[in-house]
Amino acid sequence: MSVSLEKLESIAAIAAANAAEVDRGAFPTKTVDSLRAARLFGFVSLPDAHVIVERLARECGSTAMVVCMHYCASAVLEKHGSAEVKAQIAAGTHLTTLAFSEAGSRSHFWAPLGTAKQDGDDVLLTAKKSWVTSAHHADSYVWSSRPMAGAEASTLWLVPRTAPGLRISDALFDGIGLRGNDSVPVVAESTRIRASAMLGEDGGGFGLMMGTVLPWFNVLVASVSAGLMEAATTRTAAHAGGTKFEHAGNALAELPTVRAYIARMRIATDATKALIGDTLAAMGANRADTMLRVLQSKAAAGEAAAEVTDTAMRVCGGAAFRKEVGVERVFRDARAAQVMGPTTDVLYDFIGKAVCGLPLF
Ligand SMILES: Cc1cc2nc3c(=O)[nH]c(=O)nc-3n(C[C@H](O)[C@H](O)[C@H](O)COP(=O)(O)OP(=O)(O)OC[C@H]3O[C@@H](n4cnc5c(N)ncnc54)[C@H](O)[C@@H]3O)c2cc1C
Repeated sequence: MSVSLEKLESIAAIAAANAAEVDRGAFPTKTVDSLRAARLFGFVSLPDAHVIVERLARECGSTAMVVCMHYCASAVLEKHGSAEVKAQIAAGTHLTTLAFSEAGSRSHFWAPLGTAKQDGDDVLLTAKKSWVTSAHHADSYVWSSRPMAGAEASTLWLVPRTAPGLRISDALFDGIGLRGNDSVPVVAESTRIRASAMLGEDGGGFGLMMGTVLPWFNVLVASVSAGLMEAATTRTAAHAGGTKFEHAGNALAELPTVRAYIARMRIATDATKALIGDTLAAMGANRADTMLRVLQSKAAAGEAAAEVTDTAMRVCGGAAFRKEVGVERVFRDARAAQVMGPTTDVLYDFIGKAVCGLPLF
């Protein structure tokens, strides 16, 4: 791994110090700035991105998701961005994100309904994007539309946040979890961008979504889940070991049921990390089961994180219901992975098709 663990620990400490404020809706600017300063906000490899995102998620899920989205969009820009945007990302001065989900096609991000129409040297985009992480803070959005011509599913574009005709909802994101990640709707009404802002070919969006974005997104959302699980398991074990029934003189951890719950949390957390590790190994060796592992990683991690953080709430009792153990934010943040597209249920359908030898689409 090429990331300095010492540097990463100091950045994680910044994420931890700001986590409560970010949970109240503040954008994680200080942690993003510390990643920029450490030169970890440019083009990094997927294994390095996994380590960074997982470590941040142990402290702050919102921060980890903002960074996850930046790396996913950067993976497209590294291949198809202009020299100018690539230089900005490499220097860590450019924050980007994905604008795929739409009000009409919902979590089926591969089927955008928004349009792109040629107008001289420009293109006019019209769409209702339903969720854009970092919407008010990103410099650009990697944006999907119907193709300008032909019957393919989509085309990708690099859209500056300041493009004329773009309306970013001014409502504060008020979700159950990931409350600092600034995920709000963005509407384009004949938004004018240069035709040269196309990423790849007209009609090539589906191939980029499946070939480039999906592996990064699934592995990194799984990494967010793994980090949240690590936080839940560690904090639950510490609470159970350090909390006494004073009248009886024994610790919570002396209850066999509590120990068994914690054991199951530890197993699920380590199994999730092992699956992500094997997914990265499959990708690195171009193994035949790479796509299966990519699909499995997000589904397995998202479900395991929901279950482990639910167990954390049970084991830590009323103390967890308040904020004093530090597992209730993790519990809330862990809900998102199940419903972020491709959702768990869509992944189950894809995985079922893959193992039965049926085409995914
Ligand atoms: C915190 C957060 C941040 C996000 N950030 C971004 C972002 O930066 N960019 C972006 O593009 N999107 C983003 N999204 C959107 C996300 O990827 C999904 O599009 C969104 O969560 C889907 O919500 P929905 O209500 O439209 O779900 P729906 O599509 O209405 O799904 C409802 C239910 O139906 C199920 N379902 C749907 N299709 C099938 C199927 N074929 N088989 C079985 N079950 C199915 C789903 O699994 C789900 O349980 C974000 C979402 C969240 C929660």
